[in-house]
Amino acid sequence: MKYSGKLICTICPQGCQLSWRNQREEMEIEGYRCPRGKAYGLAEITNPVRTLTTTVRVENGLHPLAPVRSTKPLPKGYLHKAMGDLALLSLSAPLEIGSVVLANWNGLRVDFITTRSITSKN
Ligand code: SF4
Repeated sequence: MKYSGKLICTICPQGCQLSWRNQREEMEIEGYRCPRGKAYGLAEITNPVRTLTTTVRVENGLHPLAPVRSTKPLPKGYLHKAMGDLALLSLSAPLEIGSVVLANWNGLRVDFITTRSITSKN
């Protein structure tokens, strides 16, 4: 297990460099200039999450792919599995922006939705 490291806070453009170390089961973080940076650092070390954006195949659409995103961030460990599940989908045009393509994915209460509408070829 890693006991110390550095990371950049990405919450705002200041980009503070945070350093952390695990001291006797206590996580210490330094380098933040505001409480949001401390919360970001703790979350990034203990349970990093990311909003997933990708594309899904569309049949009969003016565009062959529809951009999609998760409705909330997923734990990083699930991103690969989510990408695999989305790669298996094939949607049908027309599609409205905000259409749910996967609901409550993996029981995590995360949906995947389209981020643009796709009109059909006909
Ligand atoms: S610690 Fe605060 S000031 Fe620094 S980058 Fe993060 S949010 Fe911005």
